[in-house]
Amino acid sequence: MAWVFVDGDFVSKEEAKLSVYDHGLLYGDGVFEGIRAYEGKVFRLREHMERLYASAHAILLEVPYSLEDFEEIVLETLRRNELATGYIRIVVTRGRGDLGLDPRSCPRASVVVIAEPLALFPKELYEKGIRLFTVAVRRPRQDILPPQVKSLNYLNNVYAKVQARRAGYDEALLLNTEGYVTEGSGENIFVVKDGALLTPPPWVGILKGITRAAVLELAKERGIPAREEVLTLTDVYTADEVFLTGTAAEIVPVVEVDGRTIGAGKPGPITGELLEAFRALTRTEGVPIAPSGRRV
Ligand code: PMP
Repeated sequence: MAWVFVDGDFVSKEEAKLSVYDHGLLYGDGVFEGIRAYEGKVFRLREHMERLYASAHAILLEVPYSLEDFEEIVLETLRRNELATGYIRIVVTRGRGDLGLDPRSCPRASVVVIAEPLALFPKELYEKGIRLFTVAVRRPRQDILPPQVKSLNYLNNVYAKVQARRAGYDEALLLNTEGYVTEGSGENIFVVKDGALLTPPPWVGILKGITRAAVLELAKERGIPAREEVLTLTDVYTADEVFLTGTAAEIVPVVEVDGRTIGAGKPGPITGELLEAFRALTRTEGVPIAPSGRRV
């Protein structure tokens, strides 16, 4: 049976419910996080929790647990579900209020933690590579809906994914309002050009991915020149290799963008090297799921 943490209790998946008056539902008022556990260890748990608390802080939402206690709730959710490897979804909403959008009617945030096995794309696509489609919908500007806040307001991303899927592609590529490359619907983008690894800087309008940061570190450790650079669609079309990174997606090679074949049309060598290094890192580093003795 699957157990879900809802506002202090573990309940069955079927019984896991929030109120229809929750402002997370009514207004997308809340924040969320996606985390992965690999073989008994949670990858970069502290970084994910810090991003969750930073997103909550940015929207003036008080998380009703200390960061340390919340980490323990995440670990306990994995234990209850007997998951050594899996995906964790944290949702913190503004909580139950009245029908007005003013958050002052919501006395306490609602907290949900779900843990499940998850593979974002079918397994063969990780070997063959995926096809990206540049969608018409743009990533919002920082002063409209800040992409670095991981809020429940994901309609921009959902709309992008729908456009890409309806065009017959696997994933969306979003530009910003000035036409520069930002990211996928739920992943950061990297290109390889002449042996160097390039990824858009945060200010163009991206979520600062934790996988992205890990990949940049791994590249530097391995002597692969890696830097943030503003990218145009032409840079992507003419790249030697392209791949996406994200907690849910992990590292997924891209072999086609808007009908242009990337490189040799199959996952490239630097992508492969980084994928292998990332796999090794996720199996070695991490917070053990096993009980620490700490109770909340
Ligand atoms: N961009 C967006 C819009 C995302 O939702 C995600 C997933 N959290 C990412 C990038 C990748 O971030 P991370 O590697 O931290 O999962």
